[in-house]
Amino acid sequence: MLSVKFDCHTHTIASGHAYSTLEENLNSAREKNLEGIVVTEHGPAMPGGPHEIYFMNLHSLPAEYRGIKLLKGIEANIIDYDGNIDLPVYPLKKLDFCIASYHEICIAPSNERDHTRGWLSVIENPYVDLLGHPGRGRFPFDIQAIVTACKEHNKAIEINNHTLDRDRDKQMCLEIALACKQQGVMVMANSDSHFSPSIGEVDRSLKLLQEIDFPQQLIANRTWDSLRGFLKLRGREII
Ligand SMILES: [Zn+2]
Ligand SMILES: [Zn+2]
Repeated sequence: MLSVKFDCHTHTIASGHAYSTLEENLNSAREKNLEGIVVTEHGPAMPGGPHEIYFMNLHSLPAEYRGIKLLKGIEANIIDYDGNIDLPVYPLKKLDFCIASYHEICIAPSNERDHTRGWLSVIENPYVDLLGHPGRGRFPFDIQAIVTACKEHNKAIEINNHTLDRDRDKQMCLEIALACKQQGVMVMANSDSHFSPSIGEVDRSLKLLQEIDFPQQLIANRTWDSLRGFLKLRGREII
């Protein structure tokens, strides 16, 4: 039975379109017996998103709250097809974790070639750890090429529970997961929670992975130890 103990993609009211506080999210994680969460607000290019000073000040939060580990991250917006993201290196290098995602409110969908080019550049960015919800159907890309590049650069790919709300995106998520299994690339099953009761809810992601006998050891966020091991491989040391 697959399970994950660390939710690496969560939003609070600071994102501008999410509805719980960080403390509510942490309490929810505790109720669900998670080991920890990463707080990953949208980057400043998202309408209503926090200013970069929000990310610079995340160090004022504790590393652990009521027994739940708290890592400080961002869900950065990819803002062009050269793979630029919306946070400068200085605040970025102070964070524990960085997701990069396409959101159509921040970048107009283009064609498969552009989307692939954007991902390839994002993968070259040493601060990006995880490709956020690549299974969203509005941004099709060359799956094999991107999974191969993730393998070369030790990046993980997200199987996003929220994306799987929509049946139409299931096929693309499935193809991505199969390519990861075949090439031995790490994935993460995350909630992308915008309201505290959904913290740690990854049942649809795990069901999809289970259906294809996805190897447990390739799920980077299954435990705090496995997440720490993945981040260490990426040159991040988190105590
Ligand atoms: Zn997103
Ligand atoms: Zn998100």
